[in-house]
Amino acid sequence: MAETDLIGTRVPVLDKGWIELQDVMGDDNAIVAAARASFLGESKGPDKDKKLLFYLLRHRHTTPFEMVEFKFRVRAPVVTWWQWVRHRTFSFNAQSGRYTPFEENDFYVVEPDAWRLQSSDNKQASEGLLADGQWLTDALISHYEEGFRLYQQALAAGVAREQARVFLAGFSVYYTWVVKTDAHNLMHFLKLRMAPDAQYEVRVYAQAIYEHFFKPALPWTAEAFDLYQLKA
Ligand SMILES: Cc1cc2nc3c(=O)[nH]c(=O)nc-3n(C[C@H](O)[C@H](O)[C@H](O)COP(=O)(O)OP(=O)(O)OC[C@H]3O[C@@H](n4cnc5c(N)ncnc54)[C@H](O)[C@@H]3O)c2cc1C
Repeated sequence: MAETDLIGTRVPVLDKGWIELQDVMGDDNAIVAAARASFLGESKGPDKDKKLLFYLLRHRHTTPFEMVEFKFRVRAPVVTWWQWVRHRTFSFNAQSGRYTPFEENDFYVVEPDAWRLQSSDNKQASEGLLADGQWLTDALISHYEEGFRLYQQALAAGVAREQARVFLAGFSVYYTWVVKTDAHNLMHFLKLRMAPDAQYEVRVYAQAIYEHFFKPALPWTAEAFDLYQLKA
């Protein structure tokens, strides 16, 4: 599949999030061509080109992988955003709650069978699921409804959008943002955020990128990444 065929593809993630490929520049051949620029060479055919790309990734000759760029549009809760923006090599532009009022449905609802229990040996992690989480899901929805009612009351009283939003459930509200990075830094993000110790709400976005965009756009790179970084 040509990488440009993927542009505009939107993949659903979580209860009402998604990730969409807005643009992609370059492919596996662009990585090989950049590496061959070192000695002013050209393509030597698919077999030798693929071998060279594997050599580059294996020996961490990373700059050729920066020649490929991806731009995504993402809709995800703030808890996901909070972790994603720690990746300083990415460029972001996000929706602003100062301009755009939030809607009643803009909140992440955890399904009754998806409440994760606190891990006993890792303070940051979860393990296993709560047996019956219906009451918690119901409580979460009531909490959102009450917060949203107060938010609307504050707006109706003339309070600024930038301040009225303090009534909204901070970690759960859905935001939309645009994010751009190159294949080298995207692989770093994927390795960290697809790992079992990454929080589920960011892991599912990383997995969606890997399966739906990274693998089809860069099949050789994805194969080498799997071999030398994910499985290493
Ligand atoms: C499981 C997990 C748990 C985490 N827990 C916490 C936590 O408890 N608290 C917390 O604050 N963060 C936490 N983080 C975030 C983590 O510390 C990193 O901020 C985040 O993963 C981004 O990684 P990075 O800096 O390597 O990536 P990027 O910011 O994308 O940078 C990529 C690489 O560029 C280089 N680089 C970028 N900027 C600089 C710089 N200014 N100086 C030198 N080199 C630079 C580094 O080599 C870096 O690895 C956690 C991350 C994970 C995956």
